Amino acid sequence: MLAYIGLGSNLNQPKQQIKQALIALNSAKDIEVVGLSSLYQSKPIDGSKQPDYINVVCQINTHLTALELLYVCQNIETQQGRVREKKWGARTIDLDIILYGVQVIASKKLVIPHPQMMNRAFVLVPLAELEADLKVPVLGPIQDLIAKLGDIELRKI
Ligand code: ADP
Ligand code: MG
Repeated sequence: MLAYIGLGSNLNQPKQQIKQALIALNSAKDIEVVGLSSLYQSKPIDGSKQPDYINVVCQINTHLTALELLYVCQNIETQQGRVREKKWGARTIDLDIILYGVQVIASKKLVIPHPQMMNRAFVLVPLAELEADLKVPVLGPIQDLIAKLGDIELRKI
């Protein structure tokens, strides 16, 4: 199964955190990282006073189920010292499953396509870099989603 993971960090050397998480993902059983976007820098989404984020989207090939993949992502977050505090608060690392093939999932633990992806330039722009003519299940062509974003405050680094 081809899936996309969005990674973000704004604490404790964000680039290093992202690199470490990508290595951990690629080392996990039944996951192979097969594509990687550029790195992007973005402002916190809630406008609060916290450091800028570094974001990247990676493409993986996996034999895991979507839920197994979520647990791997959460383990990596825990291993890198993420403390779950307030929603949208600063974090060492965040791994979100953006897409899992063309599957649509809406369970208590997991919603795919990621429920916020259409609002987030730091997800859509790197995703389009990896697959410019992607058709997102339910939501439609990636380029249309990007066109609907309005002002894009995102810097490729
Ligand atoms: P956020 O990413 O919104 O800052 P968290 O990373 O703390 O928040 O995730 C909160 C919860 O979101 C997780 O416990 C997880 O069960 C749930 N969740 C639902 N859909 C997804 C998804 N597609 N990818 C990652 N987590 C998800
Ligand atoms: Mg998350």
